[in-house]
Amino acid sequence: MRTRALGKTGIQVPAIGQGTWQLRDARAAEEALLEGLRLGMVHVDTAELYEWGSGSETLLGGLLSKPGEDGRPWREHCVLASKVHPRNGAAKAVASACKDSLVRLQTDRLDLYYHHWRGGQAPLEETLQALAGLVDAGWVRAIGVSNYDVEDLEEAQAVLGRGRIAANQVLYHLEDRGAEAEVSPWCRRHGVTLVAYSPFGSGAFVRSGRAAAELDAVASEAGCTPRQAALAFLVREPHVVAIPKAEKVAHVRENAGGDLKLRKEHVERIDAAFPVRGGLRTI
Ligand code: NAP
Repeated sequence: MRTRALGKTGIQVPAIGQGTWQLRDARAAEEALLEGLRLGMVHVDTAELYEWGSGSETLLGGLLSKPGEDGRPWREHCVLASKVHPRNGAAKAVASACKDSLVRLQTDRLDLYYHHWRGGQAPLEETLQALAGLVDAGWVRAIGVSNYDVEDLEEAQAVLGRGRIAANQVLYHLEDRGAEAEVSPWCRRHGVTLVAYSPFGSGAFVRSGRAAAELDAVASEAGCTPRQAALAFLVREPHVVAIPKAEKVAHVRENAGGDLKLRKEHVERIDAAFPVRGGLRTI
């Protein structure tokens, strides 16, 4: 699996990682996530919100403590990301939420800690300064933001300083390329990694028949599956990585194959079949 720079942190992340929102079956999810790790999908994404929903952080804590192929715990091979919920945006609540995540994840440091989205009672500056404090305290290696539009990014950068935002995690899939309108170019210009969430539209994948037929045709010419072509298209620029969620081993294996370079002509055909409409949206 090819890796890319995570912002300006010096951390390397694979082009295709793994999401863990809305896990349904813990045993299946563990098996699938492990296979993903073996295949190099070592960027693992969770959130306190996903813990509340389906115990994602607790599951990952157990899983990443297991020995990898070299005998060292999988945690040591991972770029582990979690997120603070906006309702915990006050300074003390950010620290306490991070501590809870660290305990559940059985680790003493997160590689990336995101502000999940802008909202809640606390001023943005307070939340971001609290995240910076966690970096200084050694609990977190890098700061991420999520669902931030360009205005939010400018404001966050003014608070934190240039080069401090490692990643902006946003909705980005073939049928919703709104991130490409303004947010992705801003991230590219400022050395911020764009992490594509819901790269398969949370499972809906491609609904439009005509566009699906074109994607099928491109995939067949490129010798890959339509989902692999979709992932390859999303991560075609070096500042973008994707985090599909899969709890079926076959799905994970297919997704790992999305780390491929499409020919220019294939990129252009997918681009034309799935045009950018509007700006950034969230789910
Ligand atoms: P997604 O990755 O777009 O789609 C997941 C769905 O696609 C699951 O139903 C999965 O099935 C299925 N799938 C995966 N690979 C497949 C394959 N090769 N063939 C057929 N089906 C396949 O959805 P998502 O979970 O919304 O997004 C991914 C991750 O992004 C999340 O898990 C989370 O970590 C993150 N996220 C972040 C935010 C945010 O606000 N920051 C919001 C949403 C998501 P199985 O599970 O049955 O394999």
